[in-house]
Amino acid sequence: MEMTNANSLTRESAIQTVHDEVMLNAAYIDGKWMTIEAPATDTADADSYDSNYDLYDSNSGTIIATTRLCTKVQVEMAVNAASAAYPSWSRTAVSTRASYLNAIAEKMEEQFDKLVGLSVLNNGKPIEEAKIDVSDAIACYRYYANLITEQATWSEVSTSESGIRLLKTYAPVGICALIVPWNFPMVTTAWKLAPALAAGCTVLLKPSEVTLLPELMLGNMLSAIKLPKGVVNILPGAAEVGAAMTCHPLIDKISFTGSNAVGEKVMSQAAKGIKDISLELGGKSAIVVCADADIDHACDLIIGGIFTNAGQICSATSRLLVHESIAQSLFDTLKVNTESLQIGDGFDTDTQMGPLVSEQQLNQVKKYFDLAAAENLTCLTGGEILNRQGYFAMPTIYTNVLVTSQLWTEEVFGPILVSQTFTDHAEAIALANDSQFALAASIVSADETAAVEMALQIQAGHIWINEQQIVLPESGWGGFKQSGIGRELGVDGLSAYQKSKHVLLSH
Ligand code: NAD
Repeated sequence: MEMTNANSLTRESAIQTVHDEVMLNAAYIDGKWMTIEAPATDTADADSYDSNYDLYDSNSGTIIATTRLCTKVQVEMAVNAASAAYPSWSRTAVSTRASYLNAIAEKMEEQFDKLVGLSVLNNGKPIEEAKIDVSDAIACYRYYANLITEQATWSEVSTSESGIRLLKTYAPVGICALIVPWNFPMVTTAWKLAPALAAGCTVLLKPSEVTLLPELMLGNMLSAIKLPKGVVNILPGAAEVGAAMTCHPLIDKISFTGSNAVGEKVMSQAAKGIKDISLELGGKSAIVVCADADIDHACDLIIGGIFTNAGQICSATSRLLVHESIAQSLFDTLKVNTESLQIGDGFDTDTQMGPLVSEQQLNQVKKYFDLAAAENLTCLTGGEILNRQGYFAMPTIYTNVLVTSQLWTEEVFGPILVSQTFTDHAEAIALANDSQFALAASIVSADETAAVEMALQIQAGHIWINEQQIVLPESGWGGFKQSGIGRELGVDGLSAYQKSKHVLLSH
C-alpha cells in the first residue's frame, strides 16, 4: 500500500492539517463536534481543571496548538449519547457494522499522509514508523469487519442429554470506556474501537491528552461516513476524564492501555459496579540471543526491538540475554551499529530514531541515566540526553547489569537496553522469566526446534523467533503477570467485547 506523496510529508503540511482540519476545543459527542467551554470560575470544575492544554512538536519542543480539555460535563453528555445509541446499534445487522468498519479503513487510507504527518509532528515518530502505524490501524478495522461477518449468529452445542437443544450466541458487552496511551495513538485506538464496534458496543473513547491530533481527525472521519450518532464519542481529556468514565455507573466495560500505576487505579475504579475490564499494561521483555545466532541479524533484531519508537513500546525487548560464548563479538557489532543510527527530526527521511514524545518522558529517561551512573553500570554506548531542541536521548546500552538493578526490573519506556550473559538455555529462560512483567519476548537462534521449546517455557503473551515487533491482527495481544488482563486483537480481541449467551430448549 503506497499512498504517499513525497511533498505532503513535511512539518508545514502537518501544521496546515492541524489548522485546517483538526477540531480544537471540542469533543465529538452524539455525532457532532461540541465546543468545550472554559469552566466558569465559580464551579467545582474550575478548581480541578486547567482546561487549556498545549500540544507539542516532540522534534522541536515547540507548541503546535493549544486546546481545551473536556470535563465531567462532557463525560455525562457522552454517556447519555452512547446509552441512547446502544439499543439500535447493538441490534444492527453485522453486515452493516462491517461496512462502517470498512468505511473507516477507507477514510484512513484517503487521509493516510495527513495521519502520518500528525503522528510525526505530535509523537516525533520517523516517517516510516508512522506509516506502519497508520497501515496497521487500517488493517485492524478491515480484520474485524471480516471477522464479525464470519461469526455464526447461533451455534448448536452438543450435549449428552436427550430431548433438549442447547444454543449459543454472542451479545455485545454494552457501553464501553476505551482509554488509550500516547505511544501508538491510532493503533491502540483501532485495537479497541474496531472489535467494540464489530461486537455492537457503543463507546466513549479517550485519547491520551499528549497526542490528541490523530483521534480528533478520527471524529471527522466518523462524521463523513455517517456513523449513527452516539455510537462513538471522542473525549479529549486527561486523568480526571478517564476517572469519570471508569467510575460512571452506566459504563459496562473498560478497556485500558497504559501504565501499571494508572492501571491499578482503573482496576479499583472498575470494581464499583463490577465492570468488565481489560488491561494492557507495561513490559520488560527479554530478547534471548543463543550461541548459534547470526551476529549481524541478532544486532538488527536487538536494535529494532529497543530503539523503534525511541523505546516507547510496551513490548520493547529492553533486556538482552546473550550466550557468553558470543557476547563479546555481539557487543562489538552492536556498539558500532547503534552508534551509526541516525537520530533526528521525524520529518527528516534519513532519521532512524526520533525524539521521545514529551519533556516528561525525556525526564523519565534522564532519571534512569542518573540511576545507572549512581549504580556504576558499564555503559557500552549512549547514556545521555542530547543537547538540542526537542526531546532527544541517546540510544543506550548497559552491559553486565545486575538483576537487582532498577534498570533491569523497571520499565523505562525509552531507548535503554540492559544486558546480561547466560551459559545455557535453562539459565536464559530463568532470567527471561525473572520479571514482574510478561508481555513479549524474542529468541534469536539457528535452531528453530530449540527456539520453539524455549518459547514454550518463557512466560509471555507474544514471542518472536528470529523476528521482532511484528504484530498481526490475527494474533492475540496481551501479557501474563503484571502486564495485564485479557487479550486484544485476533478472535480473543472480539471476545473481549462480547458475552456468550446460551439458550436451552426442551422439545
Ligand atoms: P498512562 O497510564 O499515563 O496513561 C494512559 C491513559 O490513561 C491516558 O489516556 C491517560 O490520560 C489516562 N489516565 C490517566 N489517569 C487516569 C485515571 N485515573 N483513570 C482513567 N484514565 C486515566 O500511560 P502512558 O504514559 O500514556 O503510556 C505509557 C504506558 O502504557 C507504558 O507503561 C506502556 O507500557 C503502556 N502501554 C502498554 C501497551 C500494551 O499493549 N500492553 C501498549 C502501549 C502502552
